[in-house]
Amino acid sequence: MSDARQPGSWYAASAPELPDQAALVGSERADVCILGAGYTGLSAAIELAEAGYKVVVLEAERIGWGASGRNGGQVIFGFSCDQSKIAALIGQHDARRMFDWSLEGVQLIHERRNRYAIDCDWRDGHAHVPIKPRQVAELQAFQRDLAENYGYDLPWWNREQLRAQLASDRYLGALFDPRSGHLHPLKFARGLARAALSLGVRIYENSKVVSLVRGSQAVFKTAQGQVQCDFGVLAGNAYVRGIAPELDRRIMPVGTYIGASQVLGAERAQALIGNDMAVADVNWALDYFRLSSDHRLLFGGRASYSTLPPPNLRGALLRRMTRVFPQLADVQLEYVWGGYVDISLNRAPHWGRLGSNVYFAQGFSGHGVAATGLAGRVISEAIRGQSERLDAFAKIPHRPFPGGRMLRTPLLVAAMGWFKLRDALW
Ligand SMILES: Cc1cc2nc3c(=O)[nH]c(=O)nc-3n(C[C@H](O)[C@H](O)[C@H](O)COP(=O)(O)OP(=O)(O)OC[C@H]3O[C@@H](n4cnc5c(N)ncnc54)[C@H](O)[C@@H]3O)c2cc1C
Repeated sequence: MSDARQPGSWYAASAPELPDQAALVGSERADVCILGAGYTGLSAAIELAEAGYKVVVLEAERIGWGASGRNGGQVIFGFSCDQSKIAALIGQHDARRMFDWSLEGVQLIHERRNRYAIDCDWRDGHAHVPIKPRQVAELQAFQRDLAENYGYDLPWWNREQLRAQLASDRYLGALFDPRSGHLHPLKFARGLARAALSLGVRIYENSKVVSLVRGSQAVFKTAQGQVQCDFGVLAGNAYVRGIAPELDRRIMPVGTYIGASQVLGAERAQALIGNDMAVADVNWALDYFRLSSDHRLLFGGRASYSTLPPPNLRGALLRRMTRVFPQLADVQLEYVWGGYVDISLNRAPHWGRLGSNVYFAQGFSGHGVAATGLAGRVISEAIRGQSERLDAFAKIPHRPFPGGRMLRTPLLVAAMGWFKLRDALW
């Protein structure tokens, strides 16, 4: 799936460059070959290289070119679907273990920032914010579930408490998490890549995997070369197609878009979000926003379930931004970009194994900045012979999207239209 939008992002304009990595030419051997140099692939590469494995990463474009270099940067505990959904699918015991592991995913970001000196503009604090009374009730039920069943206590802010930090009248309160936060996604991706390279991982850019031959020795083939390996990892997210059809059928690429405002200046930026937290509403097609380190507002939203970029994207994002912050009516968006998230039908993570030696993680469903690090670690454990955690995730059932290849997208557009309508009406 070709997508030239990342180069236009504020992230690409503000992250220190990483030296180009050569394309794969000729044959190589590795203990592990990983498809995709996003957070998942790089996390697995770091864990395995730390354990002494010889690792090759094949990236179709550039390091961090996919969702990992374009996302909203919001680092949040848990997974995209509610814990109650996971508990209904695999039981409360495993749901609790997975929740704890998701916290490890957040912690892993800090571990790696510290161990590998990754400067990625980390800021503490995240708020989920309701727009409608129905959503207040839903978020408060979520708060109770987290406290009672997961030992995770979060404060509820009423409207006035939220208003003291966030200069918007749109929201009715907030579920605030001081341990979640936000970071610069591309700085983080490139920092992980630097760490992997320093551990001896070979990363080949412009090396799209065109086929995978499965077997006791898996072979990843590119246009000009191939890698033979004992273990393979598929970490191509929404961007990979045709390498493992049984995985393709279980995720749907959905476009989501972000605009970076002009520089607002420290004072005006701080007046918008006093405590510098990240914010996400809880609509199906959500708005999410935060400040950048150079005092811009980074405002995300406007999902496209048809995989086509929405018409007049800049105007659509501006309208959404001024609905939240009418005081920014004079402000322009200097950068606008988008990317695909890999939605699974139930929005739960889809991680597991194909045959005996090819591993995968997908289905982050727009909630992957922290969970991808965990996925890489859990896959590396399985490769090293400890598959308990991967087996727990692999128990989550995942059905293919209905409609077959031609009808999947129209059906999803129709289904999502219903959820958006529900948010608009109630
Ligand atoms: C606009 C946007 C906003 C988001 N906001 C947030 C957020 O605020 N918080 C949050 O938690 N999550 C967010 N997400 C989701 C999060 O970014 C992803 O879940 C996460 O980055 C996925 O990482 P990954 O490594 O699995 O995949 P990616 O980062 O997409 O990496 C996959 C890589 O595989 C490569 N690839 C694909 N096919 C091949 C092939 N055949 N051969 C070789 N390489 C291949 C791609 O080029 C790509 O670089 C957002 C996503 C987007 C797009």
